[in-house]
Amino acid sequence: MAYRCRAYPTPEQTAVLNRTFGCVRLVWNKSLSERNHRYRAEGVRTSYRQTDAALTGWKRTEELAFLSEVSCVPLQQTLRHQHTAFGNFFAGRARFPRFKSRTGRQSAHYTRSAFRMREGVLMLAKTSTPLRFVWSFGEVDLAALDPTMVVVSREPDDRWYVAFAVDTAEPAPAEPAGHAIGVDLGLKDLVVTSDGERIANPRHLVRKARNLARYQRRMARCERGSGNRGKARAKVARAHRKVRTARQDFLHRTTTALVRSADVIVIEDLSVKNMVRNRHLARAISDAGWGELRRQLEYKCDRAGRTLVVIDRWFPSSKTCSVCGHVLAELALSARHWTCPGCRTRHDRDLNAAKNILAAGRAVTRGDSGDACGADVRRQGSSFRDRQ
Ligand SMILES: [Zn+2]
Repeated sequence: MAYRCRAYPTPEQTAVLNRTFGCVRLVWNKSLSERNHRYRAEGVRTSYRQTDAALTGWKRTEELAFLSEVSCVPLQQTLRHQHTAFGNFFAGRARFPRFKSRTGRQSAHYTRSAFRMREGVLMLAKTSTPLRFVWSFGEVDLAALDPTMVVVSREPDDRWYVAFAVDTAEPAPAEPAGHAIGVDLGLKDLVVTSDGERIANPRHLVRKARNLARYQRRMARCERGSGNRGKARAKVARAHRKVRTARQDFLHRTTTALVRSADVIVIEDLSVKNMVRNRHLARAISDAGWGELRRQLEYKCDRAGRTLVVIDRWFPSSKTCSVCGHVLAELALSARHWTCPGCRTRHDRDLNAAKNILAAGRAVTRGDSGDACGADVRRQGSSFRDRQ
C-alpha cells in the first residue's frame, strides 16, 4: 500500500535530490551497460552482489568519487530494481531494461536506514531540513504513519512527489456477491461484462489523449535542442500527466466496481506488451489501460478475497456462439452484431465475447481443465485478429 503526495522541496533539498537522481541514473546506466557487455562477451548473467561490489569499486575511483556524496541507499536500490527488471525480462514478463534518460521521470528510493519519519515529519538522508509535502488522505492519521520505504520523484513537468509505502494488515474479505462475471476488454468500450454492462472510456479522457497527441506532433516538428522544443516538451509532459491521472482515476473506479459486483471475475490474457501498436487513438488509450486494469484487478481481488481467472488468450471469444458453441470461420472487424448460422441467435459482438469468457472461466474454476491457464481452450488463430 502506498500513499503518494505532492512534495515541495526547498532549493537546498532540490539540489541534493537532483544530484541524487543524477547518481541513480549514472549507476543504473553504467551497471546496465556492464551487464550487457558481460553477457555479450562471456554469455554470463550478473548477480546483484556483483553489481553492488562494482558500485563500491566506482566510488573508490577518482572520477566517480562524487557518488559517495549522496545517500548510498537509493544507489543500491536502483541496482536491486535493475536486478528484478532482468529477472522479469528473462522470465518473459517484461521488455529488456532500458537506459534511463535525463528528461524522463526521476526517482530515488529511500529505505528505513535513509530516512526518519516522526509525527508526520520526514527527514531524508543528506538533508538538514524536513521535506515539505501535502497530505491528502484525511482518513489516514499522518502522525502515526510508519512507512517502510519513501520514494521521492520529479516528473518531467517538474512536479515533485513523495510516496510512502506502508505494510498493511490483511484486509477483511468483501461481502460475498453470489455472482460471477466475464469481462471483455475492447476498443469501443473499454469493458463489456457478461451482464451486458458497458463502460466506455470517458469523454474527458479521450479529449485529453487527443491534446497529448497534438502536442506530441508539435514537438516532433520543432528542431532538436531549440528553445521552442523545450517549451513543447513541457506541454507534452503536462498533457501526459493529465492523461495518466485521468486514466488512473477512471480505471480505479472501474475495477473497484467490478470487484464489488462479483466473487469470480474472468478476463482474457491479452498479453498487452505483445500487442501490435496502431495509430488509432482508441487503441492508444486502451493499450495503456488493459495492462493497468489487470494489475488493479489482481491486487483488488486479492485484497477482497475474490477470484480472478485469466483465460488463454488464443480463445476465439468473439467468433464463438455463446448459445450453441458454433465457431465462425471469419468475423469482420467492423461487425458489431452477427447472427449464428447454427442456432439463429443474434449476437452483440462484445456481449457474446464476455459470455464466452465467463463460460471458459467457469470451466477453469470447476477444474475441468486442471490448469488455471485454460489449457482446455483450443488454439484457433490469434485473438489479436479475433479481437479488433
Ligand atoms: Zn449458435
